[in-house]
Amino acid sequence: MTSVPAATSATRKLRPQTNLTVLRREQLSPHMVRIIAGGPGFAGYVNNGFVDRYVKIVFPQPGISYPEPLDLWQIRETMTRGQWPYTRTYTVRWVDEAAGELAIDFVIHGDEGLAGPWAATAQPGDDLIFTGPGGGYNPDPTADWHLFAGDESALPAISAAIESLPSDARGLAFLEVDSPADMQAIAAPAGVGLHWLLRGGVPAGASELLVNAVREAVWLEGRVQVFAHGERGYMKKLREVLYTRRGLERSQVSLSGYWAKGRVEDDFQAEKKLPIGVI
Ligand SMILES: Cc1cc2nc3c(=O)[nH]c(=O)nc-3n(C[C@H](O)[C@H](O)[C@H](O)COP(=O)(O)OP(=O)(O)OC[C@H]3O[C@@H](n4cnc5c(N)ncnc54)[C@H](O)[C@@H]3O)c2cc1C
Repeated sequence: MTSVPAATSATRKLRPQTNLTVLRREQLSPHMVRIIAGGPGFAGYVNNGFVDRYVKIVFPQPGISYPEPLDLWQIRETMTRGQWPYTRTYTVRWVDEAAGELAIDFVIHGDEGLAGPWAATAQPGDDLIFTGPGGGYNPDPTADWHLFAGDESALPAISAAIESLPSDARGLAFLEVDSPADMQAIAAPAGVGLHWLLRGGVPAGASELLVNAVREAVWLEGRVQVFAHGERGYMKKLREVLYTRRGLERSQVSLSGYWAKGRVEDDFQAEKKLPIGVI
């Protein structure tokens, strides 16, 4: 069993809790829903300036009574591990400081899980409580070109990254989704080619499309910076392509598993800390 360090005032400060209210829900595509949230709690949200900024959304466990108002860090200090609320990790797609709103895009992946099903039916007025943001990636302005690779779970982060590029940036983006209806408009510079890979009913995490596309891509000239995220099995294979086949250095690559096929996030995140889960 893995031991999880107790919350400290340092972690509380680093990843403060924000309590928002759902304002509206938009169906972006058959498999993606956008939740826009705001309210008085938005004043406490501190942006970190990274395009891959992510938050940990809090889902109280049914049947456990928590002190009101819900305070995740306090719960972690005072309640046993088995009683802590569940958390799910999501990218903040955009922040509108003037309007006091932010948006999170959720993959709708069926009836299993907490966050996906919650987002599919979230209503204005519902609570959206999270801690964060974390993150650490921005496109490197000194890179000659950018390579993006991901499935739909990374589409929010990749879209935000591409939209932050200067107009003369060059790059390639490989984006795996289910069908043409799941493709999204991304305001990409002319020099960044968007390549949509359509699974056509093959389940997410069970396709070879993303890995094959990156493996067979015609590389651009110069030093690349890579942002590759998505299903864990995909990322393990991409690591081999990028480091072994292409000889990239760690400093050029941001790569991680965002989810693992057949595993709930709690198990997947715990495994990440064990040798078996290291990509
Ligand atoms: C830094 C980071 C940023 C992320 N950003 C986003 C984001 O912006 N949008 C987003 O949708 N996801 C994002 N993810 C992935 C998200 O955290 C996981 O998909 C998470 O497991 C979803 O929680 P859940 O409660 O819906 O499903 P869980 O309870 O975790 O899992 C239930 C079942 O659903 C499966 N499942 C989980 N996710 C998917 C999926 N995407 N496709 C198909 N099957 C799935 C699991 O394998 C499991 O069998 C991010 C992850 C990380 C680490």
